Amino acid sequence: MPELPEVETVRRGLERHVVGRTIDTVRVLHPRAVRRQPAGPEEFCSALTGRSLDSARRRGKYLWMSVGEDALLAHLGMSGQLLVGEPERPVSPHVRIWFTFADAGPDLRFTDQRTFGHMCVVRDGAELPEPIAHIAPDPFEPAFDPAALARQLRGRRTGLKRALLDQSMISGIGNIYADEALWRARLHWARPTETLNGPETSRLLAAVREVLGEALEAGGTTFDSLYVNVNGQSGYFERSLAVYGREGRPCRRCGTPVRRDPFMNRSSYSCPRCQPRPRRAHW
Ligand SMILES: [Zn+2]
Repeated sequence: MPELPEVETVRRGLERHVVGRTIDTVRVLHPRAVRRQPAGPEEFCSALTGRSLDSARRRGKYLWMSVGEDALLAHLGMSGQLLVGEPERPVSPHVRIWFTFADAGPDLRFTDQRTFGHMCVVRDGAELPEPIAHIAPDPFEPAFDPAALARQLRGRRTGLKRALLDQSMISGIGNIYADEALWRARLHWARPTETLNGPETSRLLAAVREVLGEALEAGGTTFDSLYVNVNGQSGYFERSLAVYGREGRPCRRCGTPVRRDPFMNRSSYSCPRCQPRPRRAHW
């Protein structure tokens, strides 16, 4: 599932290859991909045909391109990809939305095998589309407020990992990077947020920024080759993970076997020694 670094890589790809160009045709090949569009596929197509894409922006795992005062909002879901390439190439059966441009250059295809992703046009959404206005800034946005996050953590009675995944507190962190950041900060995932002290909060935030920043760098290097780019999965196989998916393998810091716990129908990976279980825990 694409997380913030992958989505940011896609955003940069859009900025480089699509922004500044005028849409010639829009074809919706699967209506589910525009299910959030109030008046359906026709509205989606007519709102975009002939218009130019002015900028590519992101909040958390959402992307949007400003189209005048409006926004073309996208979420990649579990398997969505935005692919740029020669218009003549074959159309895969997973293409859901297909954009061509007035300059007859590379086209843009939203492919999504599992169709959990979607796109929609939001009127007057250029600055911040209304459907995502409730999502908190991510740690790289200028609007991100570390002091406010520290206050929220102390005020919530929840587990640390649940808080990191709560997009209304901090956005852009998914299961993988939450585990990696907690390992780096030496904090257990079920630690009650209200017991976190100032230095621990700072350590956690620094770890979140490091983990996301490193993944961003890794993702950023892979898509520079045009025509295979803007691929939400690019960085996945190359980055080295410290705990995620490494059950039973040695902790990269102390050698203790990594532990896997069930967590919200998924898993949490941690080092039992570096991240001791808290006395009271919010599982
Ligand atoms: Zn360890």
